[in-house]
Amino acid sequence: MLKQFTRYSSTFIHGAKYTPEFKVYAYNANNGPNDKIISFFHDIPVNFNRDTGTVDMIVEIPRYEQGKFEIAKDLPLNPIVQDVKKGDLRFINNIYPFHGYPCNYGAIPQTWEDPSLKVTLENDSYFGDNDPLDVCEIGSTTSISKLGDIKKVKILGCIAMIDDGELDWKIISIDVNDKLASKINDVVDVEIHLPHVLSNLKTWFKNYKLPMGKPENKFAFNGEWRDKSKALSVIEECNERWKSLVAGKSSGKGLPIVANNTLKGTPGYHTISVPSPETQPTPKIAADIPLKASEIFYYKN
Ligand SMILES: [Mg+2]
Repeated sequence: MLKQFTRYSSTFIHGAKYTPEFKVYAYNANNGPNDKIISFFHDIPVNFNRDTGTVDMIVEIPRYEQGKFEIAKDLPLNPIVQDVKKGDLRFINNIYPFHGYPCNYGAIPQTWEDPSLKVTLENDSYFGDNDPLDVCEIGSTTSISKLGDIKKVKILGCIAMIDDGELDWKIISIDVNDKLASKINDVVDVEIHLPHVLSNLKTWFKNYKLPMGKPENKFAFNGEWRDKSKALSVIEECNERWKSLVAGKSSGKGLPIVANNTLKGTPGYHTISVPSPETQPTPKIAADIPLKASEIFYYKN
């Protein structure tokens, strides 16, 4: 039923970056004439391999980027767009000494943190955040990542962030082509080869919403990083929940749009078409980042 296609090719970009019109679609030139625009969420294969410990990642936010770009689960064929809060395009504040996101950040396709599934961690229970699983890529020696890139990454570990009471796993990974990838096999190896990365990442996740007047994010397991084997299980579980979602077996309010162009036999197959362009328009120049977003935010804790 869930047919996988050959490796995906490129993106199709509508509108200029840092404007509300900006949309980046996954684009598969080899798909049928009316199916070239596909969904990042549903049509890009997860390519999860437990033996090699690898999975594919969609880059939503390249390292040091401030625009809060994410796969739109409520738009047909799920393009990447910039999040909007209270009518304004959302930029992540620079919390001292960081600039934007401290790592390449994105999603694992064909995974879903089910909001109706109660997960018990230690003594508390949480529901999923209704999004694809988040993944951080901490390498830096391959080409600079771009919004919409698909990378194969090695899975290293994870941390259970609790955001507004919802479970929001962050998987830690490194690009398989990074020069350190062969040396880093589990979360314990990260501190040896990339000192301070884990502690800084946790500090960042804990505090990045403070400038918006929100409280610190919390973590389950006393804020400890979990190892690779836990991360593999989390990915597997979220891939299973996604299979139920696209098979029409999940219920609840505000479920993601499941329209897709590759999953024959699913209720969402060929239900929405986005005009498939033959040529990419000339890229529009990005709008300026608002001055307010470039301010540095200091905090005590
Ligand atoms: Mg999430």
